[in-house]
Amino acid sequence: MAFSQKLDSWYTDFGRSLPWRGIRDPYRIWLSEIILQQTRIEQGRDYYHRFLDAFPTVADLAAASEEQVLRLWQGLGYYSRARNMHACARYIMDDCGGRFPDTYEGILRMKGVGRYTAAAIASFAFLLPHPVIDGNVYRFISRLHGIDTPIGTDAAYRQFEALLDKQIDRRRPDRFNAALMDFGSLQCRPAPDCSACPFADECVALRTGRVALLPVKAPKAKPKDRWFYYLVLRWQHGDDTCTLLHPRQGNDIWRGLYQFPLLESDRELDELALHEALQRFVKDNFQFSISNFQFSPPHLHQLTHRTIHALFALAELASPPPRMPENMGVFSAEQIKNIPLPRLIDRYLHGL
Ligand code: SF4
Repeated sequence: MAFSQKLDSWYTDFGRSLPWRGIRDPYRIWLSEIILQQTRIEQGRDYYHRFLDAFPTVADLAAASEEQVLRLWQGLGYYSRARNMHACARYIMDDCGGRFPDTYEGILRMKGVGRYTAAAIASFAFLLPHPVIDGNVYRFISRLHGIDTPIGTDAAYRQFEALLDKQIDRRRPDRFNAALMDFGSLQCRPAPDCSACPFADECVALRTGRVALLPVKAPKAKPKDRWFYYLVLRWQHGDDTCTLLHPRQGNDIWRGLYQFPLLESDRELDELALHEALQRFVKDNFQFSISNFQFSPPHLHQLTHRTIHALFALAELASPPPRMPENMGVFSAEQIKNIPLPRLIDRYLHGL
């Protein structure tokens, strides 16, 4: 039996039923694919419904403010995905006359859309025969054919794409791709049960005892350490607790999300150095002095390429600081609930 037929028959029995499967609406498919990058399906499903409720069409998403989009995205991480998604919605409305691009190349031109996502949208929405290649597909296909090219490299992508291009079902590329993704995710798992696999008799990795050795992964760069010392300035105004926050700027993580005034260091500061640095920071930015900070316990926040060592220095003030940098805002506890925050700040506000 041909590869695609065998895969299809497995999919008929074991394929997942997901809200974005079996539909042709490119907006919904795109939304699901962007949300599911780096996100588990269960968590992604909630966000998918949340976004569709708030923005039922691409026009609604384009009309939203970036802050609304980031707020809805909060908790998913990799915030550039949300910013790119928002920029794409505006691109579709402003530059494409409101029509979703309907070719692989056109979809690939959208911000934040790579080859995998473009292939998924092209095949699911427009039945174009482009095979999807994600981590699960790499695992399955590298084992099936005994391929040891390090995955995640351009060479591997081209090799796997050429191979799958010969096998994709050109009448139903959507079904073929969905089956491929599910097979890699559900059957050819990191520690698979090969006795239940329909490809066991032809699997090179199984025959040669290399199931646990494939796929070969390219070595990862060590995450960079960064030390974030947050200054939490609070005071009472009537019944309200006021806190200073500002949106993060620059070409860095969490751009557009709100944070406390931040003192960043490329090395750990000991108690004395930190105390001095904070006092200088307060003097330079707010033109007054604080001698007493309440420090949180140190907190590690792991991102893919960075390890954030965070510490929060709380100062309860009798009144607002005499001067504040321009982009700084004063927020009540209620207002903080409606602004986008990095998960790290959100966790601090909830007691870490
Ligand atoms: S036999 Fe095992 S390793 Fe090979 S494709 Fe099937 S599940 Fe994957």
